[in-house]
Amino acid sequence: MTESVDILIIGAGPVGMTLHLALAAGGQKSLLVDRRPQQAQQGDPRALALSHGARELLEQINSWPTRAATPIETIHVSQKGGFGRTLIDRADYALPALGYVVRYRDLAGALAANLTGNALLDDIEITGITPADDHVAVALSHAGQQRTIRTRLLVHAEGTPDDDPDVKVSDYDQHAVICEITPTPGHNKRAWERFAPDGPLALLPLGNDYSVVFTLPPAKADAVMAMDDETFLAALQTQFGQRMIFGRPGPRSRFPLALRMRDTLVKGSEVWIGNTAQTLHPVSGQGFNLGLRDAWQLAEILLENGVDCNSLNSYAATRRLDREGSAFFTDQIVRTFSNDFGPLKLVRGLGLLALDVCPPARHFVARRMIWGARAWP
Ligand SMILES: Cc1cc2nc3c(=O)[nH]c(=O)nc-3n(C[C@H](O)[C@H](O)[C@H](O)COP(=O)(O)OP(=O)(O)OC[C@H]3O[C@@H](n4cnc5c(N)ncnc54)[C@H](O)[C@@H]3O)c2cc1C
Repeated sequence: MTESVDILIIGAGPVGMTLHLALAAGGQKSLLVDRRPQQAQQGDPRALALSHGARELLEQINSWPTRAATPIETIHVSQKGGFGRTLIDRADYALPALGYVVRYRDLAGALAANLTGNALLDDIEITGITPADDHVAVALSHAGQQRTIRTRLLVHAEGTPDDDPDVKVSDYDQHAVICEITPTPGHNKRAWERFAPDGPLALLPLGNDYSVVFTLPPAKADAVMAMDDETFLAALQTQFGQRMIFGRPGPRSRFPLALRMRDTLVKGSEVWIGNTAQTLHPVSGQGFNLGLRDAWQLAEILLENGVDCNSLNSYAATRRLDREGSAFFTDQIVRTFSNDFGPLKLVRGLGLLALDVCPPARHFVARRMIWGARAWP
């Protein structure tokens, strides 16, 4: 059986669903396919910090999970065992919040609630992708049936790629151990980014709790994953300090961390967006925010110029600054802060102090975290 569609999106994660809904809002149909059953996303343990800019885009497709989102009003940035700290406050930007923390599953649920009719084939297996001059033929099996879908544009939104010669990988030798904990006193809508030689520790307000991203070298992550709750809380407390007391840890999960950058975003009638185009370190919470902007900009260009090669080339050109700038920013933060080199500690401390006492410098960084490339120049 061969069917024809204008746009086929592989990957119904938050980025693929956003693209589908943004296209639909402009009257353009697309077909989404995913190898997971849809309810599997409910098992994803991640919490995502979304920028205020991300909220504005998701609201336009009625997919902002209002009740599941916890606002971040201030962000405290510091380094363990060194001086200097920066405080970023929403009041400086006349915004209700600098950003929001949402569980991946709630975000995915809010997007999925807007999918209609035959928009999604889940639990599929892609068995072949054959590019031709003006289309791509995608063979897949679904519910025991073999199908071939001929599409004018194939969008890859499959998330973090496995080994692929087109993707440059730079391993951080760090793993993120994530879980939720309850702080005493309450978090007062403050997020913390605390840099330590092992890697950054982030605390993100989520409901009454904190979502923790505890970054460590792999062997230490093994040890932390194996700890009982009491020992784990003590290790976390040592990394963070004593300003708050942590209790009631939830289940832990871990993610290996690497920077993965795809060389080319467009090949013939195929385009790559979201994590499959670039996977970043979670420090400063840029990954989904960037993928969301990929999806949004691709939808805007396709709706304005139609589904053709020129649109894809224009997409690749417009995304360059945002993706390379965000990747460079997160990569430099991780590499500059994840060490115990005395002189660098001093420079970092001075940098944090300078950001704190020099509002224009602080606003420069904050605006790029809130708006991405829209904040340039
Ligand atoms: C610990 C951690 C913390 C993070 N924190 C933040 C944060 O605070 N803020 C932020 O913005 N980002 C954060 N991120 C990054 C964020 O999770 C990702 O950028 C985001 O999930 C990417 O969405 P996506 O839709 O591109 O990919 P995914 O969410 O991975 O979805 C991809 C989808 O494609 C499907 N798929 C894959 N292969 C196939 C195939 N062959 N056929 C069919 N379907 C396929 C999968 O089943 C899945 O449904 C964090 C990441 C980690 C690991």
